[in-house]
Amino acid sequence: MKIKNKLLAAVSCLAILTPAVLAGDREDALIEKIVAAYGGDALTKAKSLSIESGIRNIAIGQSPSATETDIATSKTKLVIDFENQRKSFESWNKNRGGVFLNQAVFDGEAGYAINHGARTSAVNANLTFDGIGGGSLRTFDTTLVLVLLNNKDNAVSGEDVKYRNRMHETMTFPMLGSPDLTIYVDKESGLISKMTRENPAVGTLHYVFNDHKMQDGVAYAGQSSFLVAGQPNTMIVDRSIRVNGDVSDEFALPEEYSVPGANINTSEMMVRELTNGVYYAGQNGGFSIFVDAGDHFVAAGGYAGLTARFDAVKAAAGVDKPLKQQIVTHHHADHIGGMAEAATLGATFVTVAEHVAPIQGQMANALPDSRFELVTGDGTFANGKVQVFDIATTHSDHYLLVYIPEMRLVFSADHFSTNLEEGLPPANNNMASFRTAVEALNLDIDGFIGAHGTRQLTMQDLRAATEGYSEVRCPANRNICSE
Ligand SMILES: [Zn+2]
Repeated sequence: MKIKNKLLAAVSCLAILTPAVLAGDREDALIEKIVAAYGGDALTKAKSLSIESGIRNIAIGQSPSATETDIATSKTKLVIDFENQRKSFESWNKNRGGVFLNQAVFDGEAGYAINHGARTSAVNANLTFDGIGGGSLRTFDTTLVLVLLNNKDNAVSGEDVKYRNRMHETMTFPMLGSPDLTIYVDKESGLISKMTRENPAVGTLHYVFNDHKMQDGVAYAGQSSFLVAGQPNTMIVDRSIRVNGDVSDEFALPEEYSVPGANINTSEMMVRELTNGVYYAGQNGGFSIFVDAGDHFVAAGGYAGLTARFDAVKAAAGVDKPLKQQIVTHHHADHIGGMAEAATLGATFVTVAEHVAPIQGQMANALPDSRFELVTGDGTFANGKVQVFDIATTHSDHYLLVYIPEMRLVFSADHFSTNLEEGLPPANNNMASFRTAVEALNLDIDGFIGAHGTRQLTMQDLRAATEGYSEVRCPANRNICSE
């Protein structure tokens, strides 16, 4: 319907401007120009295409410090075997949390999610030939041309616009699993300078393509950037491609890897009373803990959906008391996503001075200072039923560890939790630094339960998971990370 309306708009517009041109001709002419610029048959008749990218990931809202944005390094390799309809997308990530090497493969018949660090491999029905590498396909101009060709019957030309002081033709087309894409095509060269798409939560997303080159007769941007709300999020700083190279080894499945364990189903809202007056509630990836302090509740765990979790707890407990304090474990964007809800519920925020600004950033109107209860070192709440300790980990310079002394239980966000039915989560830098910081507190700890993971783990589990931990090393057979 949306496309049809746009098409009608485009047709009526064309009728005025260029009456001789039939509907669709303008689109066909632009697509022809783009295909020619990107290599013509060299691209459309390619047997295979490999694209390697060197990337800087800008950790907006996810840095250890609230005032300094962390920049991490990653590499990706996308390999498409057009002849046999196979695809592989491999990513090597080096960030403060550790080193991670993952691969998605569609081998012509089925999709697989492979974790080379944990040495696991699992069939995954979501990993189809079209679906693999979806996000990264948008950061490559050459693959955008392929997406356009697959959807050309629904492509609609828009107005010409000036971009970077050059005239550009625009065209909008659908992409599987994404809002429509609009490309800006340099009128002279036929190369794509930019693509935009709308994200209902954050507005327009921009993908900017620079430094166009030719390799094996196919054009591509040597650099590109992905911007959210106008700010850089991901920068592809160097890229190389290969057309019709030998890709026969790229889709091999590691036979010696194990199948990862099954996960606990968390799709339904659940409320668990851990002990008298201490509740754990949530669904999917976001859980909170609520402690009944007599005439009010104290909560920790700040994902969006806090109100629904609180309502579920009050319904299960058969009580109606206000939320007076919300402990903010740390400042990361996902973990403060429910803080505007907490403010509406009337809570004051238990946090460190460094995290007041990111919390305020969640509010439509700034809260008065009286709504913040600042912790220096440690603090006690809910008549002694809850303690917090400010610790430092590689994940966050300040992290408020939430401890329920009566149960010797820690509520933890991002460091140590799991939804695996059995076995332990694979260690990383965050978990290892968490163990060091937690052990230094000398607390008596029996259990850990998480903002993301619902299975209760023990101190012994934390030690077992991190014992002898070292960062993932590049496996000998993976070119993507070999030095
Ligand atoms: Zn975090």
